Amino acid sequence: MKFEGRTAVITGSSRGIGKAIAERLGKLGANVVINGTSERIFETSKEFEAMGIKAAAAVGDVRKAEDVKAMLATAVDNFGGVDILINNAGITKDKPMAMMSEDDWDVVLDINLKGAFLCTKAAAKLMIKRRYGRIINISSVAGAYGNAGQANYSASKGGLIGLTKTTAKEFAPRGVTCNAVTPGLIDSEMTEILPQEMKQKYLDKIALGRFGTPEEVAAVVAFLASDEAGYVTGQVIDIDGGLVI
Ligand code: NAP
Repeated sequence: MKFEGRTAVITGSSRGIGKAIAERLGKLGANVVINGTSERIFETSKEFEAMGIKAAAAVGDVRKAEDVKAMLATAVDNFGGVDILINNAGITKDKPMAMMSEDDWDVVLDINLKGAFLCTKAAAKLMIKRRYGRIINISSVAGAYGNAGQANYSASKGGLIGLTKTTAKEFAPRGVTCNAVTPGLIDSEMTEILPQEMKQKYLDKIALGRFGTPEEVAAVVAFLASDEAGYVTGQVIDIDGGLVI
């Protein structure tokens, strides 16, 4: 897979899965626009530069249309356009539903789902002009199958699957594909906070007997982002080590 001349925008890429995706695409030759809400994105940008990756950092919150506009302008100004969008920014606020506040619900839905809608809408506008685009949404097994304690998160990630299929149908005639991946348990800051007992419960259910790595998610995403995946759209691919078989 080659990405020379392609530009990818990866939301939530200061660390974890998003960073691994940006690094993989960057090492394969893509220009990458990386994003996060904190200053940490500049450290990531420096690391990438040291690796010879062509990167530009855009601090911004995917919930805000003006921040999304500025992030895409960073891609256009630095690299001339956007070919690939990875909707990766996401958070959890896990609680049993009885204890979950409206704020817990709203913030998770706003970042995980509304953020992807805003980025897709703005990026697709640029992609359809060039009649080329790859959009990949980072959903979750929780979105496809549900998970106790994650009403907000699983609803947001299930919503992303609906958004993926609709985006695929709306933009297929303009040469833009859209797919989703549903990772299971992946080693990152998001999962390192889980209590050991809960981690063991998951491990007992994972056929491969371990959590995945961000790089293993990035490998599948890179394929979906490539020219070679041109006849794949509207699909949802589990990356869960056999958690759900
Ligand atoms: P992570 O380590 O917590 O990283 C999350 C990233 O999102 C950070 O770069 C964070 O940067 C950014 N972010 C958070 N809120 C944002 C906002 N409002 N606007 C822009 N960026 C924002 O999480 P991860 O484990 O890598 O997860 C990445 C994605 O994979 C998420 O969508 C998650 O739901 C999904 N996923 C993860 C797992 C897993 O097991 N880890 C499983 C399934 C799906 P700042 O802090 O600087 O904002």
